[in-house]
Amino acid sequence: MASLARLATIDVGQVKGLGGKRSKSLAEAGIDTVADLIHHVPRRYIDRSQKSPISKVPIGSEVTIIGKVVSVRDRRPRRNLHIIEAVIEDDSARIKAVWFNQGYVVRQLQSAEEVALSGVVEAFRGSLQIKAPALDVLSGNVEGLTVGRVVPVHPTAGGVGPGHLRRAIHNALERSQPIDDALPTELKAANGLMDRDQAFASIHFPETLEEVAPARKRLVYDELFRLELALALQKRFQMESSIGISHEPSCELAARFLNGLPYELTGAQERVLAEIEDDLRARHPMHRLLQGEVGSGKTVVAVATLLRGIEGGWQGALMAPTEVLAEQHYLGVRGLLAEAGLSPALGESHLGMDSLFSEQSGGPAVHVALLTGSTATANYNPGISRADLADDIASGQVDLVVGTHALIQEGVSFSRLGVAVVDEQHRFGVAQRVLLKEKADVAEPDLLIMTATPIPRTLSMTLYGDLDVSIIDQMPPGRTPVGTKLISRAEETTAWKVIADQVAMGRQAFVVCPLVDDSPKVEAASATAEHERLSALMTDHRVGLIHGQMRPGDKEDVMAGFRAGDIDVLVSTTVIEVGIDVPNATVMVIEDAHRFGLSQLHQLRGRVGRGEHPGVCILLADPTTSEGEDRLTAMVGTNDGFRLAEEDLRIRGQGTVFGTRQSGLKDLKLADILADFEVLTAARRDAFALVDSDPNLTGHPNLRDEVAAMLGDEVGWLFVS
Ligand code: ADP
Ligand code: MG
Repeated sequence: MASLARLATIDVGQVKGLGGKRSKSLAEAGIDTVADLIHHVPRRYIDRSQKSPISKVPIGSEVTIIGKVVSVRDRRPRRNLHIIEAVIEDDSARIKAVWFNQGYVVRQLQSAEEVALSGVVEAFRGSLQIKAPALDVLSGNVEGLTVGRVVPVHPTAGGVGPGHLRRAIHNALERSQPIDDALPTELKAANGLMDRDQAFASIHFPETLEEVAPARKRLVYDELFRLELALALQKRFQMESSIGISHEPSCELAARFLNGLPYELTGAQERVLAEIEDDLRARHPMHRLLQGEVGSGKTVVAVATLLRGIEGGWQGALMAPTEVLAEQHYLGVRGLLAEAGLSPALGESHLGMDSLFSEQSGGPAVHVALLTGSTATANYNPGISRADLADDIASGQVDLVVGTHALIQEGVSFSRLGVAVVDEQHRFGVAQRVLLKEKADVAEPDLLIMTATPIPRTLSMTLYGDLDVSIIDQMPPGRTPVGTKLISRAEETTAWKVIADQVAMGRQAFVVCPLVDDSPKVEAASATAEHERLSALMTDHRVGLIHGQMRPGDKEDVMAGFRAGDIDVLVSTTVIEVGIDVPNATVMVIEDAHRFGLSQLHQLRGRVGRGEHPGVCILLADPTTSEGEDRLTAMVGTNDGFRLAEEDLRIRGQGTVFGTRQSGLKDLKLADILADFEVLTAARRDAFALVDSDPNLTGHPNLRDEVAAMLGDEVGWLFVS
């Protein structure tokens, strides 16, 4: 009896037929071990359990024909066209088989006497023809794998084709079976799963096609169960191995801040804050992902969170992905604090206000500093050099530091960092967490990661499965959803008319230029050209320009001008994608919108309709692909970011998202988290429950070994204890 853990230690080169060069190229394709190999499952199956005599084949349906090769013809009528024709004969009749640009078929046909062809038969000019059939040479059919049965077609890997893989996997299974079943029997029964050994046999070499689905379900469950076990174990390990800060229950500061707001928190904001409060009080460090649509009011929640730490004598850090956003956060936070009387108004200095912890009359002041690499820092901290600022942070003079994500990467040191909020960085991964941990010598700071990119539940259960998740699923009152229109480029004047109308009413507009290649330079050039063109077209408006290639200080100046209302129409690249908050902006025109991804479009659209006035989003586009069309239809159809995110995942496929987060998660081999959502939910529930009852899986050594072996280096921390 072989365990999967053991098979994961056996090199794939040990399998008969996969020695030498083949094992190397398979390893490059991610198939290193026998365990990897047997998880390389067929993409499709050909039912050859019934063979048809050629004279009786039904036209138009898929059949298998077995016969002798009578002749092979190989032509190249023009460049890029290679036609291979073969005549195949059995006792009853002849049929012509045709392949296009599949040169390797020639070699196989020439060395073959008898072949099996599977495909759809057509009548062509009065005779029978089968186009591009799957071909198997029968002389090598020692194991009887290719005729008279359901034949698996394994996807080519590392240049090793389906026929070869089929034989190799057959050999591998023959040597390894029976494969032991590490899953507790209760879970097997509760989920209606078949035996694992049977599942491997049935998925690779089913007797009938009906066996495939339950076999696949079993193996998909196992794959997701291992992943969820790893996540559950990781979460527990982090909880137990790190010392966090147990923040005192709120005394004053956060409450004063919230009372000072000109509005009531929404129910969702209240709920999320309560979830955060629980984390802050707990002894282990918070590690929470806060999702909320653009404009749902995450910033207030972030500030209240930071103040909860600050009032206990800790420092806070608020980090944004760009300098423009860091600056905007700085302005926003200063504004919010000033309103609540917790900090002087912008432009006034802290001088004269007492330090937070003195009991004097003027009331406490929260010292906020903006720390970025650019000149903007000097603009907001006049007379103070960057080095001075860094000193003030290190000595604890500064309570709250606003900066870019680089804040934790650079040599900035804190005196007692207690809470960190990371905005728009849902890829914030393990590596960054380690950096954060290093910033703190006393205890690990609490971490809140915020994102306006809705993360489908499928992903928050896998990719982000080690985080706690809070969702603000309610907008502040009084918002009207942004109306979205799709207009062909030929009718762009309609869009400019909408802008003119809105500007006449005192509103402002964004025009987002198309993505050009992937080059910020080219993108900047095209935005510059569009700025010139639109400036000439809109002589009544003040038209501004912003793009990523501008000097940092200049970008801030343009944004400041737009915020102040000195610019009516801002032509921009996607630098404005995230976070920009100008409530007076009501129109967004996105040029060549079909070139943008769905979540990007949704982010862009979120820049308008943020104030009291309703917003309009115009997609100027002539989609050239059905995918592009799907995306635009989805955008026009809904404002629901979660639905769009799921649609996006469906259009793009999960392969594009795994590996993007620095979680070290490998691609899933079998599971499709959208299609297998129910199995995923069950596997997650079961795995977390099991780890709750058996924290180190000491009662389930086989499972523990299997997780360690199958997830390899990714779960190295499992063995730290
Ligand atoms: P997000 O960061 O989630 O995109 P913000 O925090 O920037 O959203 O909030 C968007 C706007 O809504 C801000 O102008 C903010 O002042 C306002 N706002 C936040 N919460 C509320 C609320 N509960 N009621 C009314 N307005 C709110
Ligand atoms: Mg925000």
